[in-house]
Amino acid sequence: MGENVKVIVRCRPLNQKEIDSKCDTILETGDYTVAVVNPLVRSAPKKIFQFDSVYDGLSKTDKIYNDMCYSLVESTLEGYNGTIFAYGQTGCGKTHTMQGEGYSGAVDSCGIIQRCFDHIFETISIATSVRYLALVSYLEIYNENIRDLLSANESIGIRNHVLKDIPGVGVTVPTLTSQAVMNATDCYNWLNVGNKNRITAATLMNEKSSRSHTIFTISLEQIQESSTVGDSPRTPVIGGIRRGKLNLVDLAGSERQCKTGAFGERLKEATKINLSLSALGNVISALVDGKTKHVPYRDSKLTRLLQDSLGGNTKTLMIACISPAASNYDETLSTLRYACRAK
Ligand code: ADP
Ligand code: MG
Repeated sequence: MGENVKVIVRCRPLNQKEIDSKCDTILETGDYTVAVVNPLVRSAPKKIFQFDSVYDGLSKTDKIYNDMCYSLVESTLEGYNGTIFAYGQTGCGKTHTMQGEGYSGAVDSCGIIQRCFDHIFETISIATSVRYLALVSYLEIYNENIRDLLSANESIGIRNHVLKDIPGVGVTVPTLTSQAVMNATDCYNWLNVGNKNRITAATLMNEKSSRSHTIFTISLEQIQESSTVGDSPRTPVIGGIRRGKLNLVDLAGSERQCKTGAFGERLKEATKINLSLSALGNVISALVDGKTKHVPYRDSKLTRLLQDSLGGNTKTLMIACISPAASNYDETLSTLRYACRAK
């Protein structure tokens, strides 16, 4: 089980503001460890955390992809489900890691999501005995409400999609839009459409995008053209069709909202964000533990939606994003503790 859940840490570089204000750094990274210095008592023993891999401020998304994401995506092409999460405090690099810095075309500016598109369609284009049907969907969870980011008439986003548990199918959102995609460019375009819808809806509804979770899902249906379907315990082959899906998740900022003096609607939001994040932490640690019989998927929309893509023979990668700045000490520790528990 442990092999199917990997947790890594990515530390961002100091930003210009932190450099200008001569901010101290509090992190010492090794290949598998992060040591955190207490900025108030620098002589105190460092807190040391261990992970499947640790990436410092100079490492590139490309390396993370090749080391940690490549094999996960390969297994979704073979019919398994997989999920990649970015977790951490706002401003620590979740979106940078998942989506990069836009669409300039430069290799360094790409995120994991774009690399997944390229990888998947490169494989599909050279597949010989298999035909693939690829579908994408993109949703946002805000305040435990589900919004379809690919629906043409939903930019106002008031609609709350309902989760249904359909026997034999699992937990799905039947009203969610699925778009067929033929190549990586189609995927980029839908990702863009969804991002624009997300901004429009957030502006209209006066929401903060750092408080929502987004899930971009690529579903891959394989139709075997030869008669040998294989016999390993993958997702069931129904009439020669095998299904796998890849969920790419940019989580809401993990910072504690109460510190910022939230009240009323904002406090309600904060509790719901924390509900999904703590439910996710509980599910992953129950899976990693392996001994717990009860995995508490039902505790949040996020974990219900991802139920068939966490645990079992699915693969999960959690990327915890942290800041090296002394001013972020508390949040950095709390992210590392969360990530460690998932380990
Ligand atoms: P989050 O999505 O976690 O709120 P962002 O991904 O938006 O954070 O990152 C905040 C800022 O820091 C952005 O300007 C981003 O370009 C920059 N940044 C984050 N991670 C890195 C990194 N590893 N290398 C260079 N810049 C980064
Ligand atoms: Mg972000």
